[in-house]
Amino acid sequence: MKKKGNLMLKASLLLLLTLSFSHCSKKGEVNPQSSSEQSLIHRPAMALAASEDFETGSKSSYSAASVTLGTGSWYLDDALIGGTSSDVYNGSYAARVRNTGKMTMQFNLSNGIGTVSIQHAIYGSDGSSTWELYYSTNSGSSWTKSGATVTTASGSFATANFTINQTGTVRLEIRKITGGSYRINFDDIVINDYSGGGTSTTSTTSSTGGVTSGGCTSTNLHLTMGNPSCAVTNSSTYADNYLMVKTQYVLSYSNTRRIPNWVAWHLDASDLGSAGRSSSFSTDGTLPSGWYQVTSSDYTGSGFDRGHHCPSGDRTASSTDNLATFLTTNIMPQAPDNNQGPWEQLETYCRTLVNNGNELYIVCGGAGQGGSGSNGSASTIASGKIVVPAYTWKVIVILSNGTNDLSRVTSSTRVIAVKLPNTQGIRSNTWGSYRVKVDDVETLCGYDLLSSLSTSLQSSLESTVDTGPTN
Ligand code: MN
Ligand code: MN
Repeated sequence: MKKKGNLMLKASLLLLLTLSFSHCSKKGEVNPQSSSEQSLIHRPAMALAASEDFETGSKSSYSAASVTLGTGSWYLDDALIGGTSSDVYNGSYAARVRNTGKMTMQFNLSNGIGTVSIQHAIYGSDGSSTWELYYSTNSGSSWTKSGATVTTASGSFATANFTINQTGTVRLEIRKITGGSYRINFDDIVINDYSGGGTSTTSTTSSTGGVTSGGCTSTNLHLTMGNPSCAVTNSSTYADNYLMVKTQYVLSYSNTRRIPNWVAWHLDASDLGSAGRSSSFSTDGTLPSGWYQVTSSDYTGSGFDRGHHCPSGDRTASSTDNLATFLTTNIMPQAPDNNQGPWEQLETYCRTLVNNGNELYIVCGGAGQGGSGSNGSASTIASGKIVVPAYTWKVIVILSNGTNDLSRVTSSTRVIAVKLPNTQGIRSNTWGSYRVKVDDVETLCGYDLLSSLSTSLQSSLESTVDTGPTN
């Protein structure tokens, strides 16, 4: 699906990262993982070193040649800059690579490289391909692979995250590995610098297609299973992965998509009471000043529901809790048949599980771009201000009521993952028919879910599809 509109991260200033992380300890419950929170708080200060959006510079042929892009000179071999209707891009252009093409920086970044994020998607109706990221500390004489091989399997952008943590002079190279003549679009390569110290994490894609990483964990109850995108409460460097901590839930917000990347919450019997459904949506006063505030009327007449992430029905212990679910930072443009059909059925089933003596850890979001509502297809609403996701996804960890929840997760813990198209025509389908592996959701959105669990537990829990009851 082609992305249109002003979705670019065009920051080019050096922006100092100031970490701030506020807690919420709902009901006074404290997760025992205090040491893991340290890794979030004491991460080394990073600054944006470079952000390549492929909007500057042109190269229309696949023939190997240098091209001067916004960040500097790159050598593109079997690769070009594309902006056709079959290219997937943010802004107007993206890189397009075929065969075993490469894109190589012909300049060094001198302040090291910490983390790198790269958006990638299948070009046109091509099939899947794989690619790898390499870095060089000797101006390209030799190269080291970062993380594992990434599979590009979606026609809308997924984000691949890498942690390199190399000081000094470093440059990058992207290598397409498999897929033959199938083409991959790459866009928005965001590179943060690295001055050494701190906690090293790795973010790789496993052979099953899921994402595994050293993880970003938190003592916040709602993030017991991890912070899927390593979101940070920093509005300049993390404007598209902005951590917002509320008593009722925690989310990562995108200021270009104007919807959450994900919302996470814990659900148990204490959350379910007699508070009524709030009557209206409201803007979120805790968004950074200067950011566009999504209003309820932005959705009016759009053909899409104001779709809750954390549902109203999961926060009925008090009117304050319920009202929090009506903040526009908790909603996305959701096809009515999705929202009021299988999505709502699954929300109801979650509360049934709670009423049967379970507590749940839930995380969900909207991924990709472009859905169909009651007025037909749309990639955005509100004159381009709000992205319509292509899919809605949710992952649920189910535990019988107890304490020390993280330590009680085993390879036989029930985990439900679903991926639903954000389209009309699915209202009467059962939610159970949309079950997928957690790995599939990780591939879809590029996040590492359940990252607080051991790698072996993640491997086992994320690679199977739930077959349990659906009501
Ligand atoms: Mn809903
Ligand atoms: Mn995971």
